[in-house]
Amino acid sequence: MWHWRIWSCGGHHGPMTSHEVLGALALTTGGYSIESLSLGPLQPGEARIRVRAAGMCRTDAEAFHMVALPAVLGHEAVGDVLETLGDCGDIEVGDRVAVSYPSCGTCPECGRGRLWLCERNWALSFDGTRLDGSKPITWQNQEVSSAFFQQSSFAALANVPARSLVKIGAHIPVDIVAALPCGLLTGSGAVTNVLEISEGGCCAILGTGAVGLAAVMTARIAGAADIVAIDIHDDRLKLSRELGATHAVNVGSADAEAQIRDQFPQGISHILDTTGSAQAWEMALRVIGRGGTFAFVTTPEPVEMFTVSPFELFLKVASMKSVLLGGANPREQIPLMLQWWSQGQFPIERLVRSYPLEDINDAASDSACGRTIKPVIIMPD
Ligand SMILES: [Zn+2]
Ligand SMILES: [Zn+2]
Repeated sequence: MWHWRIWSCGGHHGPMTSHEVLGALALTTGGYSIESLSLGPLQPGEARIRVRAAGMCRTDAEAFHMVALPAVLGHEAVGDVLETLGDCGDIEVGDRVAVSYPSCGTCPECGRGRLWLCERNWALSFDGTRLDGSKPITWQNQEVSSAFFQQSSFAALANVPARSLVKIGAHIPVDIVAALPCGLLTGSGAVTNVLEISEGGCCAILGTGAVGLAAVMTARIAGAADIVAIDIHDDRLKLSRELGATHAVNVGSADAEAQIRDQFPQGISHILDTTGSAQAWEMALRVIGRGGTFAFVTTPEPVEMFTVSPFELFLKVASMKSVLLGGANPREQIPLMLQWWSQGQFPIERLVRSYPLEDINDAASDSACGRTIKPVIIMPD
């Protein structure tokens, strides 16, 4: 009866209506094509968002191999709520929102408020459908993989679960907000929630892309005394120093590890890897200090081989920790990062470069070659 009441209220502009919308379709050829897409009706608990901008992160590139193509990707949106259906909590039409990662809301970990541990987060992110198997977007009258991270926000409109939304101030530039919901949330949350770096602490950040630089900035805010940025690109290391790193080590140089040992003879107590490089992991486990923690946000490829000596780790009483989504709740970490940004402590603008939707392939290639740290796609008005 309840469903009948909801669904029967769809008039011409109501929830039953499909919307024609411009978006980027990820193709089997490996690139994006700007296409006219059709966005279907809302389901109860969802909001329709007018997407203003969407960040691009490494997961979008990896999704070309993980999601059935063609697909509508994009998982870091900022936009305005146009319409809601059913119970959307405190989300209302007209709200400016960031759209972060999805969670089911019904599993035990969601019940405990640990949304990053949601049992269904993989399916919600990568199945290319809602949990009930439906696909919100069609292209040329065929359903395409959508509901990517339950948003598929490389399109001017998106149907998203209200529980993924974070209300934010409408005065904040959209390219700043769109940089946050996945990659920066991960790097920042890894420092505050997983490594728990505190005043006077010592840490090393392996890889200074968007995730690593968010970690550097957050470690500085946390008051870490030593922040060692490690990368193979001198320009990234220079930027790391400007954003708060106290030491910069180019692992391309032959004596990189000796430099670290010279400066930190006791080893480094907190290490975050953002590279997924087997060589980086081997080095991290050699230079980790007693009682130290090595955390990682991605892993080496299944085909990569490397050596871990559990006994050496045991002797140092060191531990390894996986980090998913920064161990962070978006409704806490995103406002926190924006507060730091407004205080001038978290200069996201140093990382971001904006691209209009029609240049999304340039954004992807600039990101892949390292020319752009954090691409943000701006949707047409
Ligand atoms: Zn869940
Ligand atoms: Zn991401």
